[in-house]
Amino acid sequence: MKDLLKKLADAPGVSGFEDEVRNIMIEELKDHVDELEVDELGNMIATRNGKPDGKKIMLAAHMDEIGLMVRYIDKNGFIKFSKIGGINDQMLLNQEVTIHTSNGNITGVIGSKPPHKMKESERKKITEYDKMFIDIGASDKENAEQKVKLGDPVTIKQEFTPLGKLYKGKALDNRIGCAVLIEVMKKTKTNATIYGVGTVQEEVGLKGARTAAFRLNPDMAFALDVTIAGDHPGIKEEDAPSKTGKGPGVILADASGRGLITHPKIKELIISVADEEGIPIQLEVSEGGTTDATSIHLTREGIPTGVISPPSRYIHTPVSVIAIEDVETTIKLILAILERF
Ligand SMILES: [Zn+2]
Repeated sequence: MKDLLKKLADAPGVSGFEDEVRNIMIEELKDHVDELEVDELGNMIATRNGKPDGKKIMLAAHMDEIGLMVRYIDKNGFIKFSKIGGINDQMLLNQEVTIHTSNGNITGVIGSKPPHKMKESERKKITEYDKMFIDIGASDKENAEQKVKLGDPVTIKQEFTPLGKLYKGKALDNRIGCAVLIEVMKKTKTNATIYGVGTVQEEVGLKGARTAAFRLNPDMAFALDVTIAGDHPGIKEEDAPSKTGKGPGVILADASGRGLITHPKIKELIISVADEEGIPIQLEVSEGGTTDATSIHLTREGIPTGVISPPSRYIHTPVSVIAIEDVETTIKLILAILERF
């Protein structure tokens, strides 16, 4: 599990550029499923056929991660960037980054004005992303343009490594879900037909899940993602009650119901299976954030959908932290759910 997570988490996959993650998933799944295809938007759809009269169940894990995109190169060869997905400007400052170009990877650093040259009032303010730039050590615009093109995606450098008993890495939102999907597709014993979908562009509008759900038209669906762990300083328990190591989060509602209100059938199914199998879960009513489930459940005439998601600290940063046992518990729970069909 550690090796698979490392491979997935270290791979770049900014929204719209999920190829490397998708290739890992295809490689992992190709000998374990009946059909494997990539649709027009780039979603990976792996199918395990069940009994002809059985249910059709979609599992969706988004492959993309938040990141940056090259927007402008100035006359001195410094690069201005756009944010792709929900990024807090504060976490960008002075990070080392990788620009993924058609000719390979280029290392850069996000530069800024040194604190010595800031006025007292300036030092107290958050530097906004459009005041930042990427320095690749270019001599001028022409030199930078030989290496980097507008539209190239950028990731923050950070490796998946142990952190005490936990693990940290970039893009654990949502390579955790991708790992869960892979393991479930490999191990499931069910009479239902299972569509394992690695979706694209979740972080920028839940896009891939929408087209994949329309195509597959399943009887029900589960989004596999991560949720916010609040077991650290700076956050109140009532605002983020899920904790690392205590089992997957089961979302009852997100974005105060504007995203998903979990279908009662799905809620009942997840809770009763967890209860009967003695699998720990953490129920969650969330006011912010949402997942692929939001776009899936509104597809066609409506598809009952739920979300099962291990908790991660520092979500949407390059130093997200998870407990491996939560990933394993999540896999166990989903396998048990699928066995009911
Ligand atoms: Zn996510």
